[in-house]
Amino acid sequence: MNENMKKCASCGADIAKTAKVCPNCGAKNKKPIYKRVWFWILIVILIIAVISAGSSSSSNTDTPAVSGENSANTDTDTPAASGENTANTDNGSQPTQAPKAEKKPDFSIEGDVTTESDAFTTYITGVIMNNTGREKSYVQVTFNLYDANGNQIGTAMDNINNLAPGGTWKFKAIALTSESFASYKLAEISGW
Ligand SMILES: [Zn+2]
Repeated sequence: MNENMKKCASCGADIAKTAKVCPNCGAKNKKPIYKRVWFWILIVILIIAVISAGSSSSSNTDTPAVSGENSANTDTDTPAASGENTANTDNGSQPTQAPKAEKKPDFSIEGDVTTESDAFTTYITGVIMNNTGREKSYVQVTFNLYDANGNQIGTAMDNINNLAPGGTWKFKAIALTSESFASYKLAEISGW
């Protein structure tokens, strides 16, 4: 058979390799799919995709422990969480986690949280910053209050309107309990 000839895939007649259709049966003269370059490129891309998906899912199996530690620490809010992150980067295992974890929360407590009392009740005071880049029409902070035995005995709450992007709010959360509390813990800062 001539170098420039081939068998028609449809009828078996000898036809020119360059022919677009078989002169005998009219079938399109196409290379079989496995002889096409793009077919093999596609296979290689798929293999790479499968391999990278496999490796990223294997690194994901490490994450639950890490996120478990983080969620345990979220009670104490941002400083502890970022401390946990640096511990993770020291492991050097998941570089992809660092940017995600370093993202600032929508609201962060700036500086110390302290308590002050008057004749009637106790307040929890501090400063909260709006990190969202948008004005928040309503922001609320709540603390859980505990007695000396660790029983929750109430909450302390404050809220504000129209907190500017990057704005700081000096809050004064009023303890909503008739008893005096021995300790408190940040429960939530939420806003919209
Ligand atoms: Zn043919």
